[in-house]
Amino acid sequence: MTTVQQAFNKGLPAVHRPPLEREDVCEVHGAFTAYCHLGNVWTGCRLCAAAAEARRVDLEARKEKELRDAEWQQRLGRAGIPERFMASSFGSYVVEHELQQQALDAAMAYANEWAQVRVVGRGAIFLGNVGTGKTHLAVSIGKHVMRKHGASVLFVSVQRAIRSIKDTWARGSSVTEAQAVALLTFPDLLILDEVGVQHGSEYERQVLFDVLNERYETRKPTLFLSNKTLDEFKVVMGERVMDRLREDGAPVVPFCWASARGRALR
Ligand SMILES: [Zn+2]
Repeated sequence: MTTVQQAFNKGLPAVHRPPLEREDVCEVHGAFTAYCHLGNVWTGCRLCAAAAEARRVDLEARKEKELRDAEWQQRLGRAGIPERFMASSFGSYVVEHELQQQALDAAMAYANEWAQVRVVGRGAIFLGNVGTGKTHLAVSIGKHVMRKHGASVLFVSVQRAIRSIKDTWARGSSVTEAQAVALLTFPDLLILDEVGVQHGSEYERQVLFDVLNERYETRKPTLFLSNKTLDEFKVVMGERVMDRLREDGAPVVPFCWASARGRALR
């Protein structure tokens, strides 16, 4: 059967012919008009084509996000952030009472004032029992300044910091002591965990103070985490360091409530 259109097309060169039309049915979207521009090739359902394109764009976006997430995880790993705290954020910090709210507010204020914190070199001191969320909030600060300000961050325990320097004294070490010290003085924010736990020699403590001194001179903030009381912390750090922390307005944030881990076990 020859339609009027086909009869009309016969007299025209292929490129100038209007496309053939026919009614077709998509199983998903129902009736649609299909077009044939050349030969016997008919167009499919436009809605199906749009859906396929949307799926392709979505898949590409997801792949890109996976790549970005993997890069971010690597950055967190390089920053020394403990694996079980990598997902920690201000939003995931559970507040059950006023003291926890105050700790969260203080941590968020420190992160939000980063531009000024970095200029002054203002440190911060988080004191309290194990399992009260000191690490969670310290990591949240670290992640915030990494993401929002492109700051370099290093999370390290005092023992590991001292160990990293001590290891360079070994014969045949590929890293010099100066390089090991530089790794600790370079980051914009150093999060020093387990302050006061070290039983190092006087010389080892001196090395640590050299690091803190260098950071102080270059106005780079250090965030101290410790299980000690404020009085014990003062003894560990010494008058000189405490004076500087006070001068720069370092907040002391108490975490003096029962451990969340202990509670969860009961
Ligand atoms: Zn369809």
